[in-house]
Amino acid sequence: MTVYDTVITAKHVCDPSIDFFGPATIGIKEGRIEYFDAEPTPTVEAKNNVHYETEIVCPGFIDLHVHVYEWVTNFGVAPDKAGIYSGATTIVDQGSSGPWTVGGFHEFIKKQATTDVRCFVSANLAGALMGGMEGTTLHGPQMTRVEEIVKAYERYPHMICGIKSHGESGGLSHWDTEVLEQAIEAGERCGIPLYVHTGELFPVDDANRPPLESVVQKALDVLRPGDVVAHVYSNMPDGVVGQAKTVPPWVKAAFERGIKFDIGYGINFSYRIARLMLEQGFPPSTISSDIHGDFNAYHDLSLLDYSLAGAFNRLLALGLPMAEAVKCLTYSPARILKSEGEIGTLSVGSVADITVLESHSLDHELSDAEGESITLSDAWIPSQVFKDGTSHQTDRICFLT
Ligand SMILES: [Zn+2]
Repeated sequence: MTVYDTVITAKHVCDPSIDFFGPATIGIKEGRIEYFDAEPTPTVEAKNNVHYETEIVCPGFIDLHVHVYEWVTNFGVAPDKAGIYSGATTIVDQGSSGPWTVGGFHEFIKKQATTDVRCFVSANLAGALMGGMEGTTLHGPQMTRVEEIVKAYERYPHMICGIKSHGESGGLSHWDTEVLEQAIEAGERCGIPLYVHTGELFPVDDANRPPLESVVQKALDVLRPGDVVAHVYSNMPDGVVGQAKTVPPWVKAAFERGIKFDIGYGINFSYRIARLMLEQGFPPSTISSDIHGDFNAYHDLSLLDYSLAGAFNRLLALGLPMAEAVKCLTYSPARILKSEGEIGTLSVGSVADITVLESHSLDHELSDAEGESITLSDAWIPSQVFKDGTSHQTDRICFLT
């Protein structure tokens, strides 16, 4: 009889990859899930038994948008802080490194972390550096080379899962969609998706400022099915919904074409926009945090912005069902990373990455970028993760920011 390293029995297991929500037993051996049964089965033997009565046991959460290139970018946080200590077993850095700086990211960030660290490499050569706001210097076509992106991907195919680019007023005013098109050419050659920031970011050339509603439309026009658009519920005037009162037709068409829309919780998240899109049938494809330190200071992490649990609980408060929200953090991002057999699932043979959610009664006001508050009486906080079968307590500080 097999003796497992750890056997988890739980009353509430949620695995959207197999449409499962109910009691189950999970057996872990040598860092992999080797047993899954939809009944708590006391006959399974283990060196270590864990039981959860009220918690929800999920596949390990995948945060598709973090910033963890500490010290190279001024706003990067420590990878395990954004990862296992926040309840995510896999994190994806969005564009902090570029083809010329991704080697350091591999050696000094990925290799040092317990969390599974991946990245979308920036389309521009250097990555985000000091906040990346020197848009016209750092992010223009003169700093973008398809060949270098392909070379970086060939060096780190297991870490680089996509390419980060931008579809916002500043870039479009200077170089239209030229950088985006180069990123797509590189994406085609590597067989990987793009992750596209929306909402004004770089300095705008006012003489060439594109009409607000044309910005996302232009970006969507060049994107392919499987590419990901960020900050879907942001209130930026040049964002996905922008100033429209209904979901714009080009956004509907993009959803239908298979373009993915990520929360990228971040700075401009708006309940108003979220409600508008949810009510019209446009739930997010994925939920991510955009966790980072202070953009405007040098390595000031005293104000940690945007936790994954904060994003997740806001979506629950807006009415997204638990199983759908968990899918946005597990199976759906795993598919974007082309790792759906390995992570984001509890199926037998997958990596033993698990996130445990604990219910907390609290009267907590959750605000958004427009100053609107929702009072949350119950929050689901990641209390523990298993990474490759090893248990870690999370760090609950700042969890609902
Ligand atoms: Zn970001």
